[in-house]
Amino acid sequence: MSAPNIETIVSLSKRRGFVYPASEIYGGLGSSWDYGPLGVELANNIKNSFWRSVVYERDDIEGLDSAIIQNRLTWKYSGHEETFSDPMVDCRACKSRYREDKLLEEFGASTDHIGEGHTFASEGGGNSLKEARIKCPNCGEVDWTEPRPFNLMFRTTVGAVSADDDPAALAYLRPETAQGIFTNFANVLNTSRRKLPFGIAQIGKAFRNEVTPGNFIFRTREFEQMEIEYFVKPDEAPRAHQEWIDGFDTWLQSLGISKANLKHYEQTKEELAHYSERTVDILYRFFPEREDEAKQWDELMGIANRTDFDLRVHSKKPEDADGKRINPDSTEDLSYFDTATNERFYPYIIEPSVGVNRTLLAVMMDAYEERINDKGETRVILKLTPEMAPIKVAVLPLAKNKPEIVEMAKRLKKDLQPTMRAVYDDTGGIGKLYARQDEIGTPFCVTIDHESLTDNAVTVRDRDTWEQERISVEELKNYLQMRLRA
Ligand code: ATP
Repeated sequence: MSAPNIETIVSLSKRRGFVYPASEIYGGLGSSWDYGPLGVELANNIKNSFWRSVVYERDDIEGLDSAIIQNRLTWKYSGHEETFSDPMVDCRACKSRYREDKLLEEFGASTDHIGEGHTFASEGGGNSLKEARIKCPNCGEVDWTEPRPFNLMFRTTVGAVSADDDPAALAYLRPETAQGIFTNFANVLNTSRRKLPFGIAQIGKAFRNEVTPGNFIFRTREFEQMEIEYFVKPDEAPRAHQEWIDGFDTWLQSLGISKANLKHYEQTKEELAHYSERTVDILYRFFPEREDEAKQWDELMGIANRTDFDLRVHSKKPEDADGKRINPDSTEDLSYFDTATNERFYPYIIEPSVGVNRTLLAVMMDAYEERINDKGETRVILKLTPEMAPIKVAVLPLAKNKPEIVEMAKRLKKDLQPTMRAVYDDTGGIGKLYARQDEIGTPFCVTIDHESLTDNAVTVRDRDTWEQERISVEELKNYLQMRLRA
């Protein structure tokens, strides 16, 4: 079983402290969310798992943490200033604003005319919403403006400028972490003395002024990405690409996401970004409540073969057909010299890019289960893997008015803490405490009772089976470590 819809996770998140609406006491801010005590732990567990599996467990990836605000030229040469736009339309009747491509997709009309960098009406796209008789989801009218490009980059100014629109001070909040990797290619290559193939991984915030954010943390204007740029010889790119697709399939399942809720989507020629040779999206069943099965899925991550586009456009050397440098501002040539073949070339790049927030949502949805207890009450269990669980063990005193029991429970919590995230909780009756820990995904509860004081043993309760076992205090740490590893 998994969550019946995103709403179920929204309310669990708020109730238990995973995710809250941002600046709620001031009425919130559309699609901004804050991660609470449990959400920050779960997000950290996802990021740690990513970092461990790509940077530590492989031998061909280096880590990086580049700046959010880069020289504006980065976004000029990457193409973002010109083409990082969504086609925006307004309903003239009720003034609601939408993304044309998403509306067409939602109502099953073709989006093929909207290429990467987007072809707009003025370029021959026509008013497709009108042609397809798509009604405004808000008011039901068919009275659309022509679609127009809306650049998604957040603008800011750097330094003490005289005017907010001073072009010399204009900068952007990065809309992806990738460009900071490309501009550091030579730095990392030279300092780590790498040879192809190798990659650079980065985790960090990205910002997009989305036209229609929504669906909880699925689409927000501020989010976090985990990206790898993997540099290969051009003829090795197709095989490396497939290996990364398979690798991420396995990694996502290692987080507890079931195979049945994941599927691949091969982007069509029309959908591919102009620099991409092949892009495969891994989709998750974010919308299981939708009747039409095809509409239950949406993108969790993308894995692209970006060819040699990125290193070329940021390099000082390449020239256009007229012999003019395509990048007169760069001070570096980002080509690679292969000492084995004495060849110089621009490496191809395979880019797996996955959102922390969408992964967190998928992990929570997939772990969600409801069960009826023997009193006929519905209980929620979040069946997170031990690695994902924000708390690994909760230590609970059976009688909080008995100082020896409380003291023993607090001591046990302290003993366990260096090896696993442990909490002490005495804020309710044992039934309530168990229910709370089940709902937040804690794999084990350890209960200290009157007998513990004499037999130096405790009861360990399993979240998934609700079975209880008596374990001696000396064995407890080893026992839990073994079960958490299993
Ligand atoms: P979409 O088509 O959903 O807008 P995209 O194809 O533009 O996504 P990419 O640019 O490939 O997304 O970004 C890589 C990953 O970053 C996405 O697969 C997703 O997990 C995450 N991501 C992108 N945009 C957002 C957003 N606005 N909110 C949350 N996560 C996002």
